[in-house]
Amino acid sequence: MTDDAARPTPPPGSPSDDARHVRRAWDLALQNVDEGGRPFGCVVVDAATGEVLAEARNQVAQSGDKTAHAEVVAIRELAARGRDTLEGCDVFVTAYPCPMCLGALYYAQPDRLVHGATREQEDEHYEDGNALFRLRTFYDEFAKDPKDRALRAEQLEPDDPTRPFREYTARHADA
Ligand SMILES: [Zn+2]
Repeated sequence: MTDDAARPTPPPGSPSDDARHVRRAWDLALQNVDEGGRPFGCVVVDAATGEVLAEARNQVAQSGDKTAHAEVVAIRELAARGRDTLEGCDVFVTAYPCPMCLGALYYAQPDRLVHGATREQEDEHYEDGNALFRLRTFYDEFAKDPKDRALRAEQLEPDDPTRPFREYTARHADA
């Protein structure tokens, strides 16, 4: 017996299991390209059981929503099913995430992040077409002083700029 069904399932988090999930994210990316989408996929797996909890493809081209990256789509799908954190989950993606998705993943707090291509490999073969950054150097933008970034930001302080935060903290002091 050499078919897949006869082969024991590799334990969650093992190198062979990780390779299977990265390959699945890669397959999702290729399927998306076939359907006119962008080349990114994401798989979220229960770190303890190995169960696949969500599979997502980048939906930017299909929806026009610039935030519909595969990682964000997966996080939203899981939230819609009642899971408000990725604690206890491993996340597998086609390429190392962009800053938006990395930030979203930091908020969602998965146990691990496993990626296929590096940012540099992605940049070599894919053009996002954004006027404010290049894929390869996107992270460099965040190391700059805010006044030196391509997206300019100005602070305009209201009378009591920290009141919303104090109001929140006061109401959740016992939480
Ligand atoms: Zn992203």
